[in-house]
Amino acid sequence: MTDSLPDVELKVSSYFSEVIDTLTELVAIPSVSWPAFDQTEVERSAEKIVSLVNELNFFDSVELLNAPIGQTQKLGQPAVVARREASPGYPTILLYAHHDVQPPGDISLWETPPFVATQKDGRLFGRGCADDKAGILVHLTSIRILKEIEHTPNIGVVLFIEGEEEYGSPSFENFLSLYRAKLESEVIVVADSGNWDTSTPALTTTLRGNVTFKLSLRTLDHALHSGMFGGVVPDSFTVFSQLVSSFFDKSGSVVISGLEKTQTSALSYSEERIREESGVLPEVDLIGSGDILSRLWTQPSVTITGVDFPSIENASNTLVPEISARISLRVAPGQQAQDAFDAFSGHAEEFLKSKAIFSITDVSTGEGFVADIQGWAAKSMQRCLSEAFGNECVEMGVGGSIPFISSFVDVFPGAQVLVTGVEDPDSCAHSPNESLDLDSLQKAIVAQTLFLLRCNQKSI
Ligand SMILES: [Zn+2]
Repeated sequence: MTDSLPDVELKVSSYFSEVIDTLTELVAIPSVSWPAFDQTEVERSAEKIVSLVNELNFFDSVELLNAPIGQTQKLGQPAVVARREASPGYPTILLYAHHDVQPPGDISLWETPPFVATQKDGRLFGRGCADDKAGILVHLTSIRILKEIEHTPNIGVVLFIEGEEEYGSPSFENFLSLYRAKLESEVIVVADSGNWDTSTPALTTTLRGNVTFKLSLRTLDHALHSGMFGGVVPDSFTVFSQLVSSFFDKSGSVVISGLEKTQTSALSYSEERIREESGVLPEVDLIGSGDILSRLWTQPSVTITGVDFPSIENASNTLVPEISARISLRVAPGQQAQDAFDAFSGHAEEFLKSKAIFSITDVSTGEGFVADIQGWAAKSMQRCLSEAFGNECVEMGVGGSIPFISSFVDVFPGAQVLVTGVEDPDSCAHSPNESLDLDSLQKAIVAQTLFLLRCNQKSI
């Protein structure tokens, strides 16, 4: 029985070429969960995972499950759930990843074929290499080594590999309530985020929430000649642009009252680095105030992501009566998405009073996340990551949202949720040329194996 770093490192490195082979097989299945793509590929990928899990010969049960979407009869994508019960007095650890992937996007922007995992300069390129098929390999390999070292471990393990994360997990809430007993656990490890960089491991401790909706506003009952009426009668675009301006102060910080913001983090992120990673043009100033990480992680942002308005080709010399916009509101972690949306719609109502009539429809909310990392599991995972990477584990935020995490917290309020992952700033998840740093993958497997071995010595 050992949980020493060199022993675990040796085991992981002896399996690592097999790990890459299996990851390559998974990447070859284009398991895009978006309805426009061939959905049998998502099933094929789920079945492949079932066979990989069965090879471990570790779990009491291995099942392919799905749940209905909302109130409909339509079923969500298949997830793999495997469970091994804990010995009395020992914790159960749930290991989450997802086997579906984003669409490849414009193929011409890929330097290697998206569904052929290709090694180059210590990285593996391909759709899903990092997000999140590598997460599956972290789980499978750490379980394999746990079993090899401990033979009959005391801890319980639940493996939960979801199939629709990239499509917004539409059946997730029903899934959790339907299969609650199968998923019951004390610790939930979500391997779907990333590290600060390839040499600095991280736990993700905050995520922003998100609200998206359509706002339509109208100033006229029909279009008017812009020469006859312009300058007196307001057109919809002018009022809309005034509304959008009212969201921000001069620096570009969001100033909608009722939207919370908090400060973050011990880390720092230079203007130079964000300029390089984002591709913002050198002539353009950044927006917002406060340090860059708080702007990215713990302050709200508002983005107009689409507008319905006549195109230039169809532009006539008229005052246009109506405009509709798709708006994405990122919510500071800790604020309820509904409260943030209420603050936004209160602001719009106040601002548009006597300027336009308006409606807000198609509202979709996803909650943010603030991790409680005071528990024993978080402390242990931080130590394991620090040992495996040979560098102190940091706490980081993510500006994006993983809404299903708050569903986990709602259903298992007593569980400790640890958000880990294998991505790094060059991973380009969701973009062309997605890639995985192989050294980070190897270290992530070492860290999680150490974590499971140490949980196995911990009675609760
Ligand atoms: Zn993911």
